[in-house]
Amino acid sequence: MTQYLFAPPAVQSLPIRGKTERFAINRIFCVGRNYHAHAVEMGRPVDKSAERPFYFTKSPQTLVQSGATVPYPPETKNYHFEMELVLAVGKPGFRVSAENAHEIVYGYAAGLDMTRRDLQLVARDKGRPWDLGKDIEDGSVCSEIVPMDGVVIDKGVIALEVNGEPKQSSNVDKLIWNIREIIADLSLFYHLQPGDLIYTGTPEGVGPVVTGDQITGRVEGVAEVALTIGQAA
Ligand code: MN
Repeated sequence: MTQYLFAPPAVQSLPIRGKTERFAINRIFCVGRNYHAHAVEMGRPVDKSAERPFYFTKSPQTLVQSGATVPYPPETKNYHFEMELVLAVGKPGFRVSAENAHEIVYGYAAGLDMTRRDLQLVARDKGRPWDLGKDIEDGSVCSEIVPMDGVVIDKGVIALEVNGEPKQSSNVDKLIWNIREIIADLSLFYHLQPGDLIYTGTPEGVGPVVTGDQITGRVEGVAEVALTIGQAA
């Protein structure tokens, strides 16, 4: 039996609706600028005919389950919510065609891609990696996984409130690159594996939160997600 100098990191996991087993997390991929109105509010409109989707990753260790209270993170003065539909991969897939993309879908969840916007924009504008802006402890929030084997979601309201006040409201049918296209493109770069999560991007209306704020969001037909911002760490 292998002996480790210290206890290895715990496996990150999420509950699965209707099951006792949990969904063990492998990797967390995120699609950047995947709703036109959000790309515009970030000052970077997307021309789908001339561009491909792009991605960043968040460590599985950043995952926190919906309903948690998390500390306001360090080294930011502009901590933002991003409401997202999350795709849960259930089968291996490499160079998956758009036509076959549904075959690797296990299910979906509602997630928050929390972002140190000030650091992300500095990194973006200086041509640096986004890690400090995106790969944030307790910064990848996710609901339970909802099993929807082989289902491709192509519509549904996606919305978020802070302290009950509406901030984001759009529809998944406004994704620039849809579920099939994301799976087809991302699987050119990675051997997708069961346990991979793909945050599919956020619509317009992103904004800051402060200590004490309560975030609630939902994707119609999937799930709700909630987060409370606690005192700074
Ligand atoms: Mn995002």
